[in-house]
Amino acid sequence: MSVKSAARSKPSYVLRTAAVRAVERVSPSFARVTFAGPSLDEFGNFGDVFDARIKIVFPPVSGVLPHIDEESDDWWAAYLAVPEEERGSMRTYSIRELRETDTGTEVVVDFVLHLEPGLTGPASLWASAASVGDEVFLVGPRRGSTDRAGIEYAPGDAATVLLAGDETAAPAIARILEDAPRDLRGIAFIEVPEAADELAIDAPGGVDVRWLVRGAQDHGTLLIPEVLKHLGDDQREQIVVEDLADEQLVWETPVYSGLGEELEQAAAPAHRYHWIAGESGVVTTLRRHLVRDLGIDRTQVAFMGYWRRGVAMRG
Ligand SMILES: Cc1cc2nc3c(=O)[nH]c(=O)nc-3n(C[C@H](O)[C@H](O)[C@H](O)COP(=O)(O)OP(=O)(O)OC[C@H]3O[C@@H](n4cnc5c(N)ncnc54)[C@H](O)[C@@H]3O)c2cc1C
Repeated sequence: MSVKSAARSKPSYVLRTAAVRAVERVSPSFARVTFAGPSLDEFGNFGDVFDARIKIVFPPVSGVLPHIDEESDDWWAAYLAVPEEERGSMRTYSIRELRETDTGTEVVVDFVLHLEPGLTGPASLWASAASVGDEVFLVGPRRGSTDRAGIEYAPGDAATVLLAGDETAAPAIARILEDAPRDLRGIAFIEVPEAADELAIDAPGGVDVRWLVRGAQDHGTLLIPEVLKHLGDDQREQIVVEDLADEQLVWETPVYSGLGEELEQAAAPAHRYHWIAGESGVVTTLRRHLVRDLGIDRTQVAFMGYWRRGVAMRG
């Protein structure tokens, strides 16, 4: 999951300098930034993006990105060798769109703007002020790599899917639905702050996309009960969002356990595949209900904390 492990499987990942080509404030909570640059022609696999995670390095206070040799076999070591105050800030994002244009590859990222005092961070601040020409490093799958680098979405033979997430997962859910086979069936729950944050998704006709507008309520207030209700558990009067003690993000997928749980092979093809991402306490709460209370096999669910309330993500 870390760039460190990404660097170990070096052929799969590249670090590339990219410049902002366009910025659009697509809704109250999202800034859509289009990145371009000559060396992006080795970045990403068209049509097979799904929820591939990328890392973005934002410049330090000086505004100047460190010099990293992009062609180096060990760009990660080169990055770590840069003094910390000159390294800038690294955060994880999803690719909303990867496209080829007459002037080269474009990578589009939808940034959530969380700008309340005390609740913002370098990535959100950068996105709120981004303008054409600003430079970042993008770290992502090397074009042509075949090992699904950074992709967690893996429904296998499941007949239907359930996708659920908050606004940070909205870009990944949108990409999954746009890259999925057109005969995919299922449901997607996306919780966002405002009705105007319901952005267009070209989803397969058999997938019901439900936007949940939570307004000023806490993250998960609508998402948790809606997902549980859909799964047949609507008896709960009060849902308590998990208060996590450590700073780790929950990351439990059929093939990886952040908790170190033993991974089992699914006994039979799952009827339904579940993909859940967003604030870590909300995701952990859903995990408890799905796995412990509803008895859903963990091999049928990917639970991913995309951020943690009150915790700055460092790389
Ligand atoms: C695989 C993956 C894919 C992701 N894809 C996207 C994506 O496409 N778009 C996107 O916007 N985010 C995405 N995220 C989430 C993003 O990495 C985090 O929100 C990150 O914390 C943002 O960095 P920051 O510098 O703005 O804030 P940080 O410095 O990390 O955090 C500073 C403060 O802001 C708070 N905070 C962080 N995010 C939010 C938020 N969304 N709402 C309210 N408070 C917040 C933290 O709790 C902390 O108190 C993804 C994360 C992962 C792991």
